[in-house]
Amino acid sequence: MDHFALRGGAMFAEDVPLATIAEQVGTPVYVYSRATLERHARVFKEALADLGDVHIAFAIKANPNLSVLRVLARQGFGADIVSVGEMKRALAAGVAAKDIVYSGVGKTRDDLAHALDAGIGQFNIELEEEGAALAEIAAAKGKTATAVLRVNPDVDAGTHAKISTGLSENKFGVPIDLAGDILARLDALKGLNMRGLALHIGSQIFDLDPIERAYAKVGALAMDLRKAGHVIDRIDLGGGLGVPYERDKVPPSPADYGAMVKRVTKDWGVTLMFEPGRVIAGNAGVLLTEVIWVKPGIVRPYVIVDAAMNDLARPAMYDAYHDFDAVHPTGEKMVANIAGPVCESGDTFAMDREIDAVKAGDLAVFRTAGAYGATMASTYNSRPLVPEVMVDGDRFAVVAERVKAEALIEAEPMPDFLA
Ligand SMILES: *Cc1c(COP(=O)(O)O)cnc(C)c1O
Repeated sequence: MDHFALRGGAMFAEDVPLATIAEQVGTPVYVYSRATLERHARVFKEALADLGDVHIAFAIKANPNLSVLRVLARQGFGADIVSVGEMKRALAAGVAAKDIVYSGVGKTRDDLAHALDAGIGQFNIELEEEGAALAEIAAAKGKTATAVLRVNPDVDAGTHAKISTGLSENKFGVPIDLAGDILARLDALKGLNMRGLALHIGSQIFDLDPIERAYAKVGALAMDLRKAGHVIDRIDLGGGLGVPYERDKVPPSPADYGAMVKRVTKDWGVTLMFEPGRVIAGNAGVLLTEVIWVKPGIVRPYVIVDAAMNDLARPAMYDAYHDFDAVHPTGEKMVANIAGPVCESGDTFAMDREIDAVKAGDLAVFRTAGAYGATMASTYNSRPLVPEVMVDGDRFAVVAERVKAEALIEAEPMPDFLA
């Protein structure tokens, strides 16, 4: 459930008309609802309430906006980071270092050193060499890094290929058959305190069965490793739960997920860790846009909006679907293609879609844009970097400025030899 709804014929974010935001901030603009973020965080926590002492780290890559992170930090969420930049954001937003988990297959020695110095709570090791490098760096600093080993369970999450991460051909984690030997070698290293295992098999998952199979595989491995004398006191179950981009396609609820986790982990005797991203932030944001033209097409009209693939990359990257709704719907419908102004045919949000009838100058939203939206934005075609707004009841604030072309030009020094 989210807080973007029609009231008296106009779409609101909580108690703020979206038209007011468009007027004051301009379009395109991402709009987040604080109440929706908080609701999603609560529902997720409640779904796991039966599991004892759990650790929930928001996967920052889904939405790294500082204000979003602060809202979630106040809900008790830590942060799952995949870069030192994200670590800096988490710390700046008020996440305690001990609640930060560092995932990712390409951490450099510098990255590892920075994160050690910051005192983050856990490293999720993706390959043996990374673990060895971390041990060496930590030992040289007289520190001990707390870590878990990410295993690749070789389970197909049944999601889009570009967001699948748990198949043996994917780049993530160590092969599950080798995990025991690798853990044994890492366990022997000074500077490293190996505490358990991690997995994350993909994103926008709609079927709990592959997740359950992957969890069961990792659980069985963990029990074997414990019998072999290893400390296994935490298992990080990753993120990946899907969200309803299309109204009539409903993903498993956090409660269904929680029940499954309870069933499969009941004998593990570990602290369970979670890294939800999309399910927390996705429906907490929309991309508000203005229709520039409705261009007659040969087959269908093109609704040309002022948002483009550089602002919301998911349709171009993953053929992703986002609902498109008029901010002041008339009740009339039209069948159209929806595209942005960028000079790429891939800058198309939808083809042949039945949508609210719109005309030039109308406002509309792409829904479910709160995750993997603004964070993937670029300035391609020298378009300004898209701004972000957070609504809180009847108030709102710009929480990321529109970065204008002038600022981008200023960051490009002209060398002397071209003076
Ligand atoms: C991306 C990612 C997540 C979050 O995935 P969602 O589908 O957004 O929940 C969690 N853990 C890791 C390691 C990730 O890479």
